[in-house]
Amino acid sequence: MKPEALLHPMPAGLYCPVGDFYIDPVRPVSRALVTHGHSDHARAGHGHVLATRQTLEIMALRYGVDFAGSTQAAGWGEVIDVSGVSVSFHPAGHVLGSAQIAIEKDGLRIVASGDYKRGVDPTCDAFEPVACDVFITEATFGLPVFHHPDPKVETQKLLTSLRQFPERTHLVGAYSLGKAQRVIRLIRDCGYDGPIFIHGSLAKLCDYYVSEGIALGDLRPATLEKKDPSAFHGAVVVGPPSAFQDRWARRFNEPLISFASGWMMVRQRAKQGGVELPLVISDHCDWPELLETIREVSPQEVWVTHGREEALVRWCELQGLPARPLHLVGYEDEGD
Ligand SMILES: [Zn+2]
Repeated sequence: MKPEALLHPMPAGLYCPVGDFYIDPVRPVSRALVTHGHSDHARAGHGHVLATRQTLEIMALRYGVDFAGSTQAAGWGEVIDVSGVSVSFHPAGHVLGSAQIAIEKDGLRIVASGDYKRGVDPTCDAFEPVACDVFITEATFGLPVFHHPDPKVETQKLLTSLRQFPERTHLVGAYSLGKAQRVIRLIRDCGYDGPIFIHGSLAKLCDYYVSEGIALGDLRPATLEKKDPSAFHGAVVVGPPSAFQDRWARRFNEPLISFASGWMMVRQRAKQGGVELPLVISDHCDWPELLETIREVSPQEVWVTHGREEALVRWCELQGLPARPLHLVGYEDEGD
């Protein structure tokens, strides 16, 4: 069987005609396999969703319990038969519950890795390389210029700034699923044990992470008492980046805007967003990690999806490894 006969791109996403299912479909389908809970990969309205328990629970938190007609939870490494195709889920190291999906038929195995990273992250299971014939990789930071620094060194910049500007409220922008909890955990691991104030939109997911055994320390709602503008002097407030563009952020005294994202490597992006303290903390692979992973997985062929596909395809070809871009649309890096 040719790999394309087992899995190929369609407008709704990667489609497996043999098993009649899609992986991370961007529009409602009858049967979806979902790698992780970010909104560009996990959408509401499918007939049936197969995903890890944590991804299903995260989808229920975000979309309501009736987000799909029916659901099935896959345990790590458990082999599930879907219309004659063997399907299994393996940790991707991206956010809590995030998985690579391996599909196998007649000895041909394709691994769709979804979004993934290789760096240490105590808020989710670490990426596990899975041997396969075709490895499908993202390329969000698929250019040689992208090298992510040590996230603890980045986090220390925030703590240094807190000491330098003890009066200012430090507003840390972080996407609500994964990045926010990881940043909070990094702040704890760097030795800060004071209260961390969170925007209301983060509460449910932070509670969920805590219920899954990820300690986040003293979290409090960032609700401002009108009569006390000094309430958040020198405090750390974590919220989604979108919240910092609206009135919510302006209520704080002398706010110092920080943003935790892999894109903060690009100075121009930080400047445009008015970010005073950029923190380069990413939940995706940087360029060396992409190459390291492809070498380690050692597939016969690489398919590259969402991101800067060309450079990675070219690198594979220079290694004598067949590669092609999939040109999938609809993935917007919610959790970069
Ligand atoms: Zn993601």
